[in-house]
Amino acid sequence: MDTAEHILHQTFGYSAFRQDQARIIEHMGDGGDALVLMPTGGGKSLCYQIPAMLRAGVGVVVSPLIALMNDQVTALTEQGVRAALCNSAQTPEDAGQAMRRLRQGELDLLYVAPERLLREEFLAELDGVELALFAIDEAHCVSQWGHDFRPEYLQLSVLAERFPEVPRIALTATADAWTRREMREKLRLEQAQEFISSFDRPNIFYRITARRSPKQQFLDFYRASHAGHAGIVYCRSRARTESVASWLESEGVRALPYHAGLPAAVRQKHHATFRDEEDVVVVATIAFGMGIDKPDVRFVAHWDLPKNIEGYYQETGRAGRDGEPADAFMLYGYDDAAKVRQMVLESESPEPVKRLEQQKLDALLGLCESTRCRRAGLLAYFGEDYTGDCGTCDNCLEPAQSEDGTIPVQKVLSCAWRTGQRFGAGYLIDILLGRKDKRIEGNRHDQLKTFGIGGELNEKQWRSVIRQSLAAGYLLPDANGYRTLQITPQGLEVLHGRQKVTLRVDREPPRPRKARSRPERAAVESQLDSTEQVLFETLRAERRRLAQENGVPPYVVFHDRTLLEMAKRRPQTPEDLLAIDGVGEAKLARYGEGFLRLIAEGSAAAAEPPDSTGSSTN
Ligand code: ADP
Ligand code: ZN
Repeated sequence: MDTAEHILHQTFGYSAFRQDQARIIEHMGDGGDALVLMPTGGGKSLCYQIPAMLRAGVGVVVSPLIALMNDQVTALTEQGVRAALCNSAQTPEDAGQAMRRLRQGELDLLYVAPERLLREEFLAELDGVELALFAIDEAHCVSQWGHDFRPEYLQLSVLAERFPEVPRIALTATADAWTRREMREKLRLEQAQEFISSFDRPNIFYRITARRSPKQQFLDFYRASHAGHAGIVYCRSRARTESVASWLESEGVRALPYHAGLPAAVRQKHHATFRDEEDVVVVATIAFGMGIDKPDVRFVAHWDLPKNIEGYYQETGRAGRDGEPADAFMLYGYDDAAKVRQMVLESESPEPVKRLEQQKLDALLGLCESTRCRRAGLLAYFGEDYTGDCGTCDNCLEPAQSEDGTIPVQKVLSCAWRTGQRFGAGYLIDILLGRKDKRIEGNRHDQLKTFGIGGELNEKQWRSVIRQSLAAGYLLPDANGYRTLQITPQGLEVLHGRQKVTLRVDREPPRPRKARSRPERAAVESQLDSTEQVLFETLRAERRRLAQENGVPPYVVFHDRTLLEMAKRRPQTPEDLLAIDGVGEAKLARYGEGFLRLIAEGSAAAAEPPDSTGSSTN
């Protein structure tokens, strides 16, 4: 009899479930509804794929992204799962064949675009077949507030009405409570059990650096640990993606631009090149987004400041989905922050939304300047406690320069206190710096004891003090989203001298560049010794060849981790090979022999004395 564990081993070739996967699969297997929040790369797909295979009938997966659907179905088919898709990019023959397999009960999984699913003739087809479940992927697309909003998602409530007996699971990597509530309501999942996984991505190394000379800073980062790796560089403007991409090319890096202004065919080509090859850097605006589930993206860099922490986390989440070490590298500057602020102000959004966006920007800047562990800061933003230092972020590794900031913070708090906590950062800074204007004179705030007590710092530095006070929770923006700053109970502790404060010092003068010796993130292949590396390269070449032959991306054949394990453990028999993570029965049957042969040859070559002629690995 098939069990979830059995399918995990035999079909997917994995040894153990991650996080909540087992609980979710059990819950779905029993016919429950579920709302699943898991970070990008957390392993959401198995949560509906395995129950769909366990239960009678077909699991219908709604996904907004055609490219992603293609990838998933290709990967599933490679693993021997009976899967098909239905979307507008398909030929009529392919669509017809998918429908035939559906009617004949030959499918475990059917991926379908929402607009197709919602057509009456498609729903009528579903009336006639046995349904295992509905999975609604990227469920946050239902939120009108998010930038991934898809109007068709609102109509998916029809599934609850028309197929009340069929269990439904909605999945997303967007964490905030507001979106969660919208998903529940709009998708009619009021009764669904919620599964919220930790949003920590332990294999991502976070580094956030003040921008000095971005080109040099990026090249240092890239050359130190990512030469020849796939990565994404996010820029704010279309023009910048193009100039950065062509500059990278001139530096010998394979780079392609990607933004919404490029012709669709070019975009598609660049995306495909990125997906199918192993060393391409895409320089993109955030238009290069949800559709990327390439597992071996080794770094995500932010050339410009992202819009907020949610955006940053989503974008950096595209690195290292395969669980191997990956880097998130961000440059930030004040001019940059000012530009984002201006964009927010000039946007068409209603006032409350603008205010919210400004606060989110402040939180992001707070993160940039914080001396605290980045991971702890990020997770705290999503409401998660992370205790201790992670050891894999810049602040943990090279503690930032910091100094006692109790007095400046007290000065800010004192100004806020004396003005009745009714003003925003700009006003408080004017008072600190003793700048008079009509408003201040009108309020008689030039008479305050604190008027002009902040001459030791300039405006920029005071902004940094205030942002860090916000980030540390001494000050809180008004709950209605106005920019007035209120003092928290913790802030009162500081104001009354009962708590000390440490502030990050802006590293304005460029620090002397240290030599390469600083501990950079390990590249995947550096986990191998030199003979293992030779074999790893051989296996990679074979993977590339097979991928081309079969018209699939290399990672669909095997992930890096799987090749790495092969190179290390040198399996000799099909059973040995099956024990390696990522090798299931379908792939064993398809590729096993070839890889075993290469491993045997590689081992023989390595065993020969070094001066013997001719290696047989190639
Ligand atoms: P998400 O949709 O949450 O971003 P995916 O479902 O694409 O993530 O999974 C991310 C990667 O992790 C995939 O390459 C998948 O094969 C792998 N994965 C998922 N579950 C496991 C597991 N239990 N063990 C090993 N790898 C897994
Ligand atoms: Zn850390």
